[in-house]
Amino acid sequence: MKPIESMGDIWMRFLELRDSRIDEISLFGRKFYIKRDDLLESRFNGNKARKFYKFLVDDLFDIEEIVSYGGAQSNAMYALSNLAQLKNKKFTYYAKTLASYLRENIEGNLKNALENGMNLIELNSCEYDIFLESFKSGEFAKKLYIKQGGAEKFAKLGMEILAEELNHDIDSLNLKNPAVVISSGTGVSALYLSKFLKYDLFTTNSIGDMEYLKKQMLEIEDYDIGTIGFLATQKKYHFGNLYRELYEIYLETKRAGIEFDLLYDCKMWQALLENLEIFEGRDIVFIHTGGVNGNITQLKRYSFKEYFVI
Ligand SMILES: *Cc1c(COP(=O)(O)O)cnc(C)c1O
Repeated sequence: MKPIESMGDIWMRFLELRDSRIDEISLFGRKFYIKRDDLLESRFNGNKARKFYKFLVDDLFDIEEIVSYGGAQSNAMYALSNLAQLKNKKFTYYAKTLASYLRENIEGNLKNALENGMNLIELNSCEYDIFLESFKSGEFAKKLYIKQGGAEKFAKLGMEILAEELNHDIDSLNLKNPAVVISSGTGVSALYLSKFLKYDLFTTNSIGDMEYLKKQMLEIEDYDIGTIGFLATQKKYHFGNLYRELYEIYLETKRAGIEFDLLYDCKMWQALLENLEIFEGRDIVFIHTGGVNGNITQLKRYSFKEYFVI
């Protein structure tokens, strides 16, 4: 059996690596700067490492169990299973009844989370809806309840630290009229980043349409989101579906020696490439949000080409 690293060791490594580097990479015939959050401590990689940072440094002394819900392959689920394991807490996760294919082939984030001791509770759609209606986030009776995808105010701390790193590094790189780009799911990351970042921030929607993204952001905290640039795509993309152009972006970046996740970052690249003309004369810093471990299951689906939505 692999010796389990002590919590202290993992924290130290995490804290050391927290300050991820910026690489200059040539992609799609242009120069980009990539903030390598994918290289953060692998169990708390990318966006979710930033988002759950507060709980990593907090001792969660009064908490016995972490409770959350959402998709059965979610990156947030996997990150929380790691958090729970590290902090020696129970982790209960509610999801809709698994599709039979997934049940017979448990893999990716679900497999890893179950191996971390996650207690999965499956609900049929009706039960799931009732569960959602009664769900309240926060601390109650030694349990910490976290909304789907970690769309909560606690993300602020980690995003403030990310913004400080960017402010500092972009200054020292002397970039030309810099523009920072980050993908969005719930939008909580982009929302808080925009508060602390000195530079212009751009994002796009991956879950639901642009109006839904803005609405979700404002539900988290009533900030002025007028400073954020929202980049639209011509076509509507449905989260989790397969698209030839996203797969091609994946392949091209992979050829250049860097892998991005297919669900969020490849969609962000698509929106960015469709709107490149507004970045004339500007240096672009693309935040790699990690989550490439989620690619295993997506890539398998892409290998059955008939699933392509053209
Ligand atoms: C969760 C996630 C996002 C989206 O973050 P939000 O704060 O929900 O907008 C982006 N990229 C990756 C890889 C993620 O796991």
